Amino acid sequence: MTNKNFRSLPAVHVIQKTTGIQKIIPVFGQENIVAEIRKHLDELRKLISDDTSNCVDISPEGISIAICNRLAINFKPKLRKVINATGIVLHTNLGRSPMAEEAANAAYMAAGGYINLEVDIETGKRSSRQDAVREWICRLLKCESATVVNNCAAATIIVLKTIAESKEVIISRGQLIEIGGSFRLPEIMNVSNAIMREVGSTNITRIKDYESAVGPNTGALIRVHTSNYKINGFTESVTIQELIELGKKHGIPVIDDAGSGAIRPLNCKGFEEEPNPVESIALGADITLFSGDKLLGGPQAGIIAGKKDWIKKIESNPLMRAFRLDKMNLAALEQTLLLHLNPSTVSQRIPTLQMLSLSMDKLHEKAIDLQSKLKQNTQCQNIEAKISEGFAGGGTLPDQQMPTWVVEFSSPRIDTQSLSHKLRVSEPSLFTRVKDDKIVLDLRTLKDDEINIAVQIIFDAIEKS
Ligand SMILES: *Cc1c(COP(=O)(O)O)cnc(C)c1O
Repeated sequence: MTNKNFRSLPAVHVIQKTTGIQKIIPVFGQENIVAEIRKHLDELRKLISDDTSNCVDISPEGISIAICNRLAINFKPKLRKVINATGIVLHTNLGRSPMAEEAANAAYMAAGGYINLEVDIETGKRSSRQDAVREWICRLLKCESATVVNNCAAATIIVLKTIAESKEVIISRGQLIEIGGSFRLPEIMNVSNAIMREVGSTNITRIKDYESAVGPNTGALIRVHTSNYKINGFTESVTIQELIELGKKHGIPVIDDAGSGAIRPLNCKGFEEEPNPVESIALGADITLFSGDKLLGGPQAGIIAGKKDWIKKIESNPLMRAFRLDKMNLAALEQTLLLHLNPSTVSQRIPTLQMLSLSMDKLHEKAIDLQSKLKQNTQCQNIEAKISEGFAGGGTLPDQQMPTWVVEFSSPRIDTQSLSHKLRVSEPSLFTRVKDDKIVLDLRTLKDDEINIAVQIIFDAIEKS
């Protein structure tokens, strides 16, 4: 069939009346649909004038199917579920810490309705949103008071601005770090209007370096945990205890940016040196800061804990309004903290801690399970899945090379890079590592109930290639 004549194209309102279009009106809305119909008709007119419209279905029903497909593609949500087989537990680009069920449910509850965010249920009077978490943080860290903001970067800014605006903050040159995504300590100091006073050298800083920098304009001493890099060899650094003693001697507040928030020692290799904010508080740090979505295993948040008077000052800083945590994250954070208050179950109930504490035996068992499922498929023969021991990077803690078990394979039907792309764009999306031209699936981050889904995604990707 050829369509020499533009008049043979159906009118917009005729296409709109087809059952196909009627069905999708509640999904995409009249306006978007009409705009898409117009665009499609324009394209068809061009095909007709170029005389390349052979075999194109220009019936109203045919066009309505094309419109449905166009809208489904154009309005596809950008965010989708990802199955993480990279082995990187705290993967910032994949949303860092997955939350515990209790925390996710609380966020869901808060999202879809009203909650007593800033009202005291007893009195009906206005209260602070911080009341939902302050007590739990104080119990957990044994601190006088606490407050929370959007993330640890915001926490650092508001703390420096409140405690040390226009004053010198003494910091070791070895701690002037960048933590990805434009968090650079010197720049953070700058936006906080604190004057950075660097001491020591990249690899060696001693307590006397700090002491000789103390002067009338010193506002604070800060320790920043160098969570994402390590200096080996000839190094010396000052402990938080020494810093706190120096602060006490001169009456200068000490800030500890602990970063990852390891509340208690982790039951896995490689995390021995994570600073413990409970310890900093016990030693007498004025303020300690850490993220909510690293080793605490909760939502994105910046926890600020320490002395009551400082917390009060921080809360009355005008930046607090800009940095405050929203109701969903606050609800999720409260539940996460409650889980931490039961030390005997916390490492099983918080997914991040649970993944980090998986034993090599359990990882091996999961690897065997995945390997046998990959071998069961008859359509894509030649997947030679092998299991082996490997190491996974730590994501936000990249220095932590954790031993793990992996399954690796390649397919003769498709090259590994293209396959890795196909796995990533599938639904749900499957993220893997690629090493030595093999797809590597790490069992530490692959949940038991995701193994079958991952296998299906792999089969589909290979079959369709
Ligand atoms: C991760 C980290 C930060 C930034 O935390 P966000 O919650 O991502 O803003 C700041 N300081 C240290 C030491 C960190 O490890």
